[in-house]
Amino acid sequence: MPMSPDASNTTETTLKTLGAPSLEELRAAGVVPSREELTAGPCVCVECIEEIPCNPCETSCPHGALTVGQPITNLPVLDRSKCTACGLCIPACPGLAVVIKSLEGDRAKIRFPWEYLPYPAKGDEVEMVDRLGTPVCGGTVISVLNPVRNNRTAVVTVEFPGEYVDDVISMRRP
Ligand code: SF4
Ligand code: SF4
Repeated sequence: MPMSPDASNTTETTLKTLGAPSLEELRAAGVVPSREELTAGPCVCVECIEEIPCNPCETSCPHGALTVGQPITNLPVLDRSKCTACGLCIPACPGLAVVIKSLEGDRAKIRFPWEYLPYPAKGDEVEMVDRLGTPVCGGTVISVLNPVRNNRTAVVTVEFPGEYVDDVISMRRP
């Protein structure tokens, strides 16, 4: 008799087969901020639930809010009480797994890494996508930051309808 898939099998399916974790897996991992947290202020979302040897998120954080420790395959642990939402960890993550989200009334904002050319520009109307690249809703580019220290990973901020805050993770390539 077939068994129901457990969480590890689901992870296998979405990460290894589909290439991205599902929202359910991320919630189970405790890395999806609540509506209350998102309304209280910008929340770092570290969508890194695969044990890989990596820690630039930890070393990039000037406030000790992200810890990988030893072994380096540990999953990053976020201490929200130490996080200032400075965003330095966004371009530092080679897996493009870190974004910052917030909610203001019925509008949401997301800051995310962007490595495609051409870069978007402030005021652009763009299409926001979920973790599998499926279009979710429209959005308006608020800012594009690309200082030299980002090593060509721009950080784009987009405003979009708040009802999609959990699903949106990036924008569609123009
Ligand atoms: S946003 Fe800034 S303070 Fe918060 S975890 Fe990232 S680097 Fe650290
Ligand atoms: S830098 Fe990114 S991929 Fe590497 S451990 Fe941190 S969140 Fe995960």
